[in-house]
Amino acid sequence: MARIDLPLQPNGYKVQWSYLPKQFSAQKIEEILDLFRKFVPTGDFTLGKPVREFEQRFAAMIGTRHAIGVNSGTDALKLSLRAAGVGPGDEVITTANTFIATVGAIAENYARPVFVDCTDNFCMDVGQVEAKITPRTKALLPVHLAGQMTDMPALLEIAARHKLPVIEDSCQCILGDIEGKRAGTFGRSGGFSLHPLKNLNVWADGGMIVTDDDEFATVLRQLRNHGLKDRDTVVRMGGNSRLDSLQAVVGNWLIDQVDFITNTRIKNAAALDQGLGRIKGITLPRRFNNRKLVFHLYIVFAERRDELLAHCKKQGIEAKVHYPVPLYCQEGLQPYGYKRGDFPVTDRQADTMISFPAHEHLEPEQLAYIVQTVEDFYGA
Ligand SMILES: *Cc1c(COP(=O)(O)O)cnc(C)c1O
Repeated sequence: MARIDLPLQPNGYKVQWSYLPKQFSAQKIEEILDLFRKFVPTGDFTLGKPVREFEQRFAAMIGTRHAIGVNSGTDALKLSLRAAGVGPGDEVITTANTFIATVGAIAENYARPVFVDCTDNFCMDVGQVEAKITPRTKALLPVHLAGQMTDMPALLEIAARHKLPVIEDSCQCILGDIEGKRAGTFGRSGGFSLHPLKNLNVWADGGMIVTDDDEFATVLRQLRNHGLKDRDTVVRMGGNSRLDSLQAVVGNWLIDQVDFITNTRIKNAAALDQGLGRIKGITLPRRFNNRKLVFHLYIVFAERRDELLAHCKKQGIEAKVHYPVPLYCQEGLQPYGYKRGDFPVTDRQADTMISFPAHEHLEPEQLAYIVQTVEDFYGA
């Protein structure tokens, strides 16, 4: 096969991690600024019309009765936990391998994160949950990490048996599903992030909560806006977690593209699976026929991972590791009393996983270049 070489991109890589410069090209920026020019004179900045429109379109996209716009994915989870009754001294069961925001959302409610290990698809090992339930457990918080799916049918059975609410961290899994049922729709609510590096991204921070529960939605709408029921009536203590109206303008511009973004990532992941799966030294995570995995991150397991990572970077591929230090081992979490070795699957993954770009702005040659570079490394 012909050797591939590629030109350097502006950031010095040949295959760059961030798609933002391509996604928001000069022409696209103008389109959005035109929408801003129309919107700004309305002065409708606080929970304005674009927010309501974006919420309706988001709910329609996921297939829920409600979507509630908030200022971040973190607050989507924080407020969902609070609305589910989580407070000081309570325990919330989640996974040892996740992004810090999941655990921050628990801690901000003065509750205690209780970790379980993950499986080889990076999500909660549901079989370990029941042993961690105590009288103080108030909620279960599975994380659909990397666009993979937690085994929600099994988790819901446990939740029902113990009468525990489930809040889904779907921040990395927009439009993922199990047999057609979407991430975020299994639990009492699901939280999404609109962070610039998430699959539906705005120009700053933002988040969304989806739920089918009318009463829960009402509480969440109050919690994000100072506990106000209307302009003059405070019915509970809340805060300011509102989604910014300008960001909702960006969201409305982007939301119709989410299907394309998702499907392109899935296609790119399949191409990488096909190329990398043949290489001795690389192991693919398990793929499931009945699940739609949306590949917010494309991760494989690699022998001699650190050397491979260095090799890829040297060859111009902006590969990463999600995450090199398991969260439960981080300094900031030491008060919770966990120590390295408590979660062996998470530990093993931290040592062997490598993430490659798989976003919708990659060219086929860039995907082939990733495969070629990994092949070169293992001497295939
Ligand atoms: C991004 C992310 C969050 C938080 O989202 P923000 O919008 O950045 O607050 C929560 N959980 C996971 C797994 C995430 O990847």
